[in-house]
Amino acid sequence: MADAIAEGHTSFKLFMIGMARFDELAADYLKVMAQAGKHGALTNVHAEDQCLIGYLCEQMTAEGKLGPKHFPDSRPREAEGLAVQRAISMAKYAEAPIYLVHLSCEEALAPIRQARAHGQIIYGETRPLYLHLSRERFEEPDAERYVGWPPLREASQMQVMWDGLRSDNLQTVATDHCGWNLAQKKAGKTVDELLPGMSNLETLIPMLYSEGVGQGKLSLSRFVEVSATNPAKLFGLYPQKGTIAVGSDADIVIFDTKKDVTIRHRNMHSRADYELYEGFQVTGWPTHTLSRGEVIVENGTVLGNAGRGQLLKRKRFAPL
Ligand SMILES: [Zn+2]
Repeated sequence: MADAIAEGHTSFKLFMIGMARFDELAADYLKVMAQAGKHGALTNVHAEDQCLIGYLCEQMTAEGKLGPKHFPDSRPREAEGLAVQRAISMAKYAEAPIYLVHLSCEEALAPIRQARAHGQIIYGETRPLYLHLSRERFEEPDAERYVGWPPLREASQMQVMWDGLRSDNLQTVATDHCGWNLAQKKAGKTVDELLPGMSNLETLIPMLYSEGVGQGKLSLSRFVEVSATNPAKLFGLYPQKGTIAVGSDADIVIFDTKKDVTIRHRNMHSRADYELYEGFQVTGWPTHTLSRGEVIVENGTVLGNAGRGQLLKRKRFAPL
């Protein structure tokens, strides 16, 4: 870990779920957190409690409750809340900062709010699906497309997430982008076999702007903070990234705040063969995307060449 950090890889992700054998190896993971903190890295935590999830998945499979309709009940809000509380306590004694990824509900936000109020260095992220979609989607045909870990929640939680962003209970919005196609999403049969993740990178900014700033849920400056400034600061890229200033990379999105767009899969560039927000109407869409001063996307046409990306050596963690 010390070598990776010295080379500029200053964050790690830790999963509290079965695939990482978290419950079995929790003592080692606690040392991982401490080690990361000691060397100036930020530990990202996927917080869902495997004990509850494993029990529920087993029970539901035995009862023949298969498929996406039953999926949200297999990973309840309490499983997320329980894991967040555990991660916060572990981080406290590891004396390490943590960043809780893709949070979806009040059960996760409440312990973060409390720990932050007590001065613990903790950050929270949500992802677009928890702001824009709710669990009723699992009643639709091909509902496997909505499967993510954690699941879509009750509609009431969407407002909770917006409030969390506005009040600095959450600091960032990020996509966890996974460009699966529908056949891949539909391969799993039991609730625990359903493939999590979806393509949603291209719609991140227009949906956040239209639903957030456009609907009065976020200020324009908070929109920039949660989508650009805070991620750059938290992950050691500021001020090279995350700000428009002399000496910074000219990574700039020029955004037409008046442009009305109906989101359609056929206009997207992902290899996924479906669109999460098919038919959603948004006001506001990027016209130009610049990377290091070069226009790489103009009015939906990709101009940047493959291979122009550069590995960034990130700085050690500093609190926001
Ligand atoms: Zn995750």
